[in-house]
Amino acid sequence: MIRSTARILLCVLLIPSAVPAQQEATPPAAAPFIPPTTIFGYRNAAPELQLEKAFLAVPDPMLARQHLEFLTSAPHVAGSLEDKRNAEYVLDKYKAAGLDAYIQPYKVWMGLPLDIRVDVVAPEGVVMHGPSPEHVSDDPFQKDPRILPAFNEYSPSGEVTADVVYANYGRPEDFKTLKEMGIDVKGKLVICRYGEVFRGVKPAVATKYGAVGVILYSDPIDDGYFKGDKYPKGPWRPDTGVQRGSVQALFKYPGDPTTPDVASVPDLPADKRIPPEKVNDLPKIPVTPLSYADATPIMQNLGGPESPRSWQGALPFTYHVGPGPVKVHMSIKIAYQYTTIWDVIGMVKGSEQPNEWVVLGNHRDAWVFGAVDPNSGTASQLEAVHGIGALLKSGWHPKRTIVFASWDGEEEGLIGSTEFAEQHAKDLSRAVVYFNMDSACSGPDFAASSVPSLKQYLRDAAKAVPSPKGGSIYDQWKATQDKSKDTPEIPGAKGREPAANVTKDVRVGDLGSGSDYTPFLQHLGVPSADVTSHGPYGVYHSAFDNFAWFTKFADPTFVYEQEMARVYGILAMRIASSDVLPFDFEEYGKEISEYVKAAETKAKAAFGDQAPSFADATAAAGRLQKAGAEAMKRQTGGTQDLGATNLVLRNVERGFLIDGLPNRPWFKHAIYAPGENTGYAAVVIPGVNEAIENNDLALTKQQLQVLTNALNRAAGMLELVR
Ligand SMILES: [Zn+2]
Repeated sequence: MIRSTARILLCVLLIPSAVPAQQEATPPAAAPFIPPTTIFGYRNAAPELQLEKAFLAVPDPMLARQHLEFLTSAPHVAGSLEDKRNAEYVLDKYKAAGLDAYIQPYKVWMGLPLDIRVDVVAPEGVVMHGPSPEHVSDDPFQKDPRILPAFNEYSPSGEVTADVVYANYGRPEDFKTLKEMGIDVKGKLVICRYGEVFRGVKPAVATKYGAVGVILYSDPIDDGYFKGDKYPKGPWRPDTGVQRGSVQALFKYPGDPTTPDVASVPDLPADKRIPPEKVNDLPKIPVTPLSYADATPIMQNLGGPESPRSWQGALPFTYHVGPGPVKVHMSIKIAYQYTTIWDVIGMVKGSEQPNEWVVLGNHRDAWVFGAVDPNSGTASQLEAVHGIGALLKSGWHPKRTIVFASWDGEEEGLIGSTEFAEQHAKDLSRAVVYFNMDSACSGPDFAASSVPSLKQYLRDAAKAVPSPKGGSIYDQWKATQDKSKDTPEIPGAKGREPAANVTKDVRVGDLGSGSDYTPFLQHLGVPSADVTSHGPYGVYHSAFDNFAWFTKFADPTFVYEQEMARVYGILAMRIASSDVLPFDFEEYGKEISEYVKAAETKAKAAFGDQAPSFADATAAAGRLQKAGAEAMKRQTGGTQDLGATNLVLRNVERGFLIDGLPNRPWFKHAIYAPGENTGYAAVVIPGVNEAIENNDLALTKQQLQVLTNALNRAAGMLELVR
């Protein structure tokens, strides 16, 4: 114990000087780290605080470095030999820590690129034969022959030759603008830039407007030289860097496209699968990504009117929308087949409530080397496991079962996590919480998203972990947020702002989609959270997201990897052994009240006098808030029956489950879903808000009733807390 304390102090004292000057700009002068003395949910926090102190001493920056170096030594796309090798590495570490661990294979429908070509065929004199290999002046990994050509997973194979139209970010409003400008995209090849919405939304919208193909490119204004020096001089996207990625309609349902609701276990009979050719929700037109080096000759030679000024990126010429005279020939050959992927699962059995799971996931598969996305998370998770293992060896056991998971196939469409969630739906109906960590670290700024009931829990856990910059994670998190009010362009801040802000405390974002919490929260109603630490990061899904980039720009000394391992472990062990589950349903109710209020204003604007009454929904949200406040009194003070209280608290989130959202029955959560037109960003009370956006009065009324029932159901459960 004494040695542990000494090590923590040593870290706090020594590490600030090891942090590069670039990262030191944000915080105020280093403050001392003062650990809290109480924990919400614990009647007597002292023993737990002793355990946490012992845990915090274990995660080791040098070991995190070793994990990351091993995991990113080769490209390891889902289903590859290198992916299997990494699965075995994780399995070994889980076992070494004393976890009960196994590999769970699934057989899923996925593709790998065979031949991808994009050629400019007109006008004469404009030459581009892409995609060009990703290349910079100096990078030790770029020549690896196993690097896959850049492609978009779930694009159909196909060949088109057509005039090109520029469609900005490819959002519904962008296509509307083109229409208003008199530009018809029917039969055209659309080029749009990455950003603003999930990439899978873009081909879905383009198809509605009659386009025959889509090119997605990374504009330097969004993550290239406009932001700062490009790699290898700086962290931003170099000219040839390409963003790979899935264009699956994950806002309809994620996972194996041939098995919605069903787990793709290896021996699943064929008649339980949708034949791949009958899957309806995959893109119908070919889609492929380009670097801005390859996109430039296309963009520069477009004719037609000037684009709206807000559509102008950072390429050095005025953007026009076309159509033509640039004509492009695009030929996409992707080999789709049933492929085996491997989740790794490691369990620590709970001593009192072994059937109640606390699940902690990170995906392991990457498009290329995946140093930030996702293996900074894997390395951190393994060090959290290392710490939990040290406690196990000293005889400790959590009260509830802790389940660590290393998901596969996340990049293709959250496949490993979704199949696991579908396979274990019954076990997970008793789960307490799901904590996600995808890209754990691209820089020094901590951020989190969660359901409102977990927001205070996250803030408290952040107070329990020292920051390499001095003080606690919480202190630095707060300082960064205060600063980002003045400088809103701080990377990562966007998209993490909650739809409703009901406290003056640190803001925790909402959960939309784009990572593995989706099946847990939005399909099964398991309370979920996601944590990360971010910084300037322009190499997302490219060959340059590798160990060289990471050690130069993200976390040279691996102290933020250590920080994330520590907070991830604290998140797990605290809730796993808490006397009373530390959910705050008052904050949940307050936020929902705000969502309802905002939707009412929107409905009045959309429907005028016809707008439906929001009185019942407002009352139900108020009832939830009140029940949450009453429950909080029992949680903090005098509940007599811990077992019964915890059972209720554990289940309230399931009260929000409904039969399914309109047109997407897989999504069953009444409060959060990925937006049909945003994909990543959360839409709150999605049934109601999307009905209003679609100007559908009857559906708005019906969805208001569904929401009201869900809120009353959850409030009614919460009122049982005694
Ligand atoms: Zn990821």
